[in-house]
Amino acid sequence: MADLDPDIARVLDDELARQQSTLEMIASENFVPRAVLQAQGSVLTNKYAEGYPGKRYYGGCEVVDVAEELAISRAKSLFGADHVNVQPHSGATANAAVMHALARPGDTLMGLSLAHGGHLTHGMKINFSGRLYDIAAYEIDTATGRLDMDKVREQAIEAKPNVIVAGWSAYSRQLDFAAFRSIADEVGAKLWVDMAHFAGLVAAGLHPSPIPHADVVSTTVHKTLAGPRSGMIFSTEEWAKKIDSAVFPGQQGGPLMHVIAAKAVAMKVAATEEFKNRQQRTLDGAKALAERLQAEDAKKAGIKVISGGTDVHLVLVDLVASELDGQQAEDRLHEVGITVNRNAVPNDPRPPRVTSGLRIGTPALATRGFGADEFAEIADVIALALTGGASVEDLARRTKALAESKPLYAGLAQY
Ligand code: PLP
Repeated sequence: MADLDPDIARVLDDELARQQSTLEMIASENFVPRAVLQAQGSVLTNKYAEGYPGKRYYGGCEVVDVAEELAISRAKSLFGADHVNVQPHSGATANAAVMHALARPGDTLMGLSLAHGGHLTHGMKINFSGRLYDIAAYEIDTATGRLDMDKVREQAIEAKPNVIVAGWSAYSRQLDFAAFRSIADEVGAKLWVDMAHFAGLVAAGLHPSPIPHADVVSTTVHKTLAGPRSGMIFSTEEWAKKIDSAVFPGQQGGPLMHVIAAKAVAMKVAATEEFKNRQQRTLDGAKALAERLQAEDAKKAGIKVISGGTDVHLVLVDLVASELDGQQAEDRLHEVGITVNRNAVPNDPRPPRVTSGLRIGTPALATRGFGADEFAEIADVIALALTGGASVEDLARRTKALAESKPLYAGLAQY
């Protein structure tokens, strides 16, 4: 690489150094094991394999078939699903395929509003979802920071959606899948759960599983699940054929066999005790952070934790009453060596590029080996950075010490 393309070689080196020296707290990010990097950087990238194992439209697929079969059987057993399609290139293409299978253009999709924590693919105006389908967006109850399922039900009775999607990109509580199922049944809708964010917690048995309730469940593989950037779709037997033909040839051409092999590796890791322990540290770390951000100094500085805590891997911070807006808070944390993303709060008075909130997640640091002590320390650093309670230099020193105490991709370590 250094000989062929020194410019890109430098990008790879610099990004590794950035990941090693800073603390990654973007809730949708994680670190993959070296074995996943190896699969993704392998000769499997050379292979065309349109179709499914044993039913390909290209010759020479006998080896990559093994990888896809392994990814399928491991994913099914990990989540206890009847059927899975492991070919989606990403979460967004998985979701496009789900709607392709469950609905027709012009049908009504009911999903959580983007401004209240939903995803682009759940009905944003200029996304495929908002362009192809009629959208009836539901919102969270801003007084509690939670969904009010009675309100969702009333709205569903009114809107008569064909599909209801339950899932989020920024929400700090568990969803009531049984209530969503009962609402879907009452109004004759199909139930789709997008578990992209919390799939790792589900795999570890630390979050209720949507699989027994939903017709279809989509996910990304790279968030809490800690695998390669990509998607998967689980379904009941009833929807299996429609989902498969919606992915290929409906939405995609040739599957990325190197990524599918990497998914198989990630599913193997996700079935281990080490993974379960890591997901528990992820949850405990998020709880510690939520508590620290509700201490007296944070309250005085106008910092609020949406919903008053968290049941998942992230904390949503409301800065409407703080001196910092979302952009300034993100920049302040960047200065001390912590990477997060600004995030709109419900009914945000500021524009989406500035926002009045932060979304702070613990999965990547848990993968890096953070436990109770390190999460308590980082929570204190974040609180002091946001309240102006300590100098940037002092906080940057503390972050650096944390990063050095938990090296990343050092020597031959998997992480
Ligand atoms: N679904 C949810 C709930 C997400 O949060 C995301 C990504 O943030 C996606 C889908 C899309 O995933 P991708 O970025 O892989 O397209």
